[in-house]
Amino acid sequence: MNSEFRHLPSVDRLLADRRLKRLSQTYSHTLLVDLVRRQLEDARQAISAGSPCPPLDDIVAAVSAQLNFLESPSLHPAVNATGVILHTNLGRALLSQEAISAMDAVAAGYCNLEYDLDSGRRGSRQVHVEPLLCQLSGAEAALVVNNNAAGVLLALTALAKRKEVIVSRGQAVEIGGSFRIPDVMRQSGAKLVEVGTTNCTYIADYEQALSPRTVALMRVHASNFRQIGFIHQASLEELIDLAKCRSVPVFDDLGSGCFLDTAAFGLDPEPMVPQSVSAGAALTLFSGDKLVGGPQAGIIVGRQEYIAKLRRHPLARAVRIDKIRLAGMAVTLIHYLKGEALTKIPVWRMISTPITEIDRRAHLWAQALGSRAKVTDGETMVGGGSLPGGTLPTKLVAVGGKSRSPGRAQSLAQKLRFQKVPVIGRINEDILLLDPRTVLPDEDKVVLGALRDLAAGLK
Ligand SMILES: *Cc1c(COP(=O)(O)O)cnc(C)c1O
Repeated sequence: MNSEFRHLPSVDRLLADRRLKRLSQTYSHTLLVDLVRRQLEDARQAISAGSPCPPLDDIVAAVSAQLNFLESPSLHPAVNATGVILHTNLGRALLSQEAISAMDAVAAGYCNLEYDLDSGRRGSRQVHVEPLLCQLSGAEAALVVNNNAAGVLLALTALAKRKEVIVSRGQAVEIGGSFRIPDVMRQSGAKLVEVGTTNCTYIADYEQALSPRTVALMRVHASNFRQIGFIHQASLEELIDLAKCRSVPVFDDLGSGCFLDTAAFGLDPEPMVPQSVSAGAALTLFSGDKLVGGPQAGIIVGRQEYIAKLRRHPLARAVRIDKIRLAGMAVTLIHYLKGEALTKIPVWRMISTPITEIDRRAHLWAQALGSRAKVTDGETMVGGGSLPGGTLPTKLVAVGGKSRSPGRAQSLAQKLRFQKVPVIGRINEDILLLDPRTVLPDEDKVVLGALRDLAAGLK
C-alpha cells in the first residue's frame, strides 16, 4: 500500500485540533464530522492519483473554508446598472416599500390567509386579491397563481385537455427559460393547432381550422421579439368576433400585461389588461413581476365560469401562490387603485424618471471614476419579456474604450461584480456601460463606493 496513506490523520485527531474545536462551538458535531470525512476522502483520492498526503493544516483549512462557503448565503442583493429594468436574471420587478412591509408582516406572524374573520371559518386566499383585480381589469373573476407559466399550464390543462386550441404560427413562441408555447400545450394535454405562416396569420386561417374539437382560440403576445416588414396578425377583436360565432372562448396570454399606458412614456404600446377584458377575452393571463411591478405571480382574470373551473382543478393547488407574495401583490394592486403607481412602484418610477435626473446621477457616478469615464446618451430597455422594441432615452456612464488592451471592459465589469454588493453593468464594443435609470436613488452610495474603489485600483 502507498505509504502516504499512513500519514493521513484520523477523524478524531482532526476533530481534536484546536481550530476545529473552536468551530465545534458554533457548528454541530455531525456537520464537522461529515466535512472532515469528506476532506479525508478527497485526500485519499489525491493520494491514489499520486499526490503526497496533504499536511494536517491544509485539511483543517479546507474544512473551515467549506463551512464558510456553506454559511454564506449565495443569494444576496446586487445593483442592476445594466439598463434593463425587468432583468429576469437579476430578479425582475423591485417592490414598493409598502409591498415589502406587508410581506414582512405576514412572514413574521400568523395571518388570515385562508381564514374568514367574520365567520371564524375557513376562507380562500384569493379573496385578498380578487376584488382588486376585478376592479382594475373590469373582469368578473380572478385567480393568482405561482407565475404566468403556471397560469397558462393550468388554464390549458383544466379547459383544453384532449381538445384543440388554435394558435397563430407566429405566436407559437419561446419566452425563454424553456417556456415554449408548443411544449406547454403538450404538457397540458391540449392539442396545438398552428395556423397561418411565420409572418402572416389572417382571421380566415383561424376560421378554416375551427372544428368540433376546438375548445379555444389563443393569442400569445410576442413579448420578447418584434417582427418587422411584411407581417400580419389577426387582431384580438377579430379573434373574439369569430370565437363568439362558434361559441368558443379566447385565451389571451399577454405576457407582461399592464395597467398603465407605456405609450405615455414614448415606449411601444404594451397590451393592457382592461382592454383585453373589455374586448371580450374569456381569460387574460399575465405575470405579476413584469410591468405590473409586483412579486412573482401569474394573474388570470376573466369570466367566472372559466375561473371557477381553474380554481377547482387539482393543479391549482400545485401552482398556488404563497402568503408572502400574496400580501405584496395586494398592496401593489392597491397602488394602482389609489393612482399612485407611478410614484410608488419602482418599475414605473424607473420608467418615468426624467432624463435630467438621470443625467445628474450619471455625472455624479462619472465623477467618482475621474477622467476615465464619460457620460453618453443611451437607451434603457424595459426587458423581461415586454416591449422588445421599445426603449427609453437615458444617460450612461461609459468606461474604457479605445483601449490597447482588449477585454478591459470585461475586467472592469468583473471588478464591479466582485464588490461586496455586486454592481452589474453591460458591455458594448469593449466599453463598460452603467445606467442610473435601473438603479434606485438609494443605491447611489453603494455604486459611488464601488466606482471609487474601481478608480483607486486603476491608479
Ligand atoms: C413572460 C411570459 C410568460 C411566462 O411568465 P412567467 O411569469 O415568467 O412565468 C408567458 N407568456 C408570455 C407571453 C410571457 O411574456
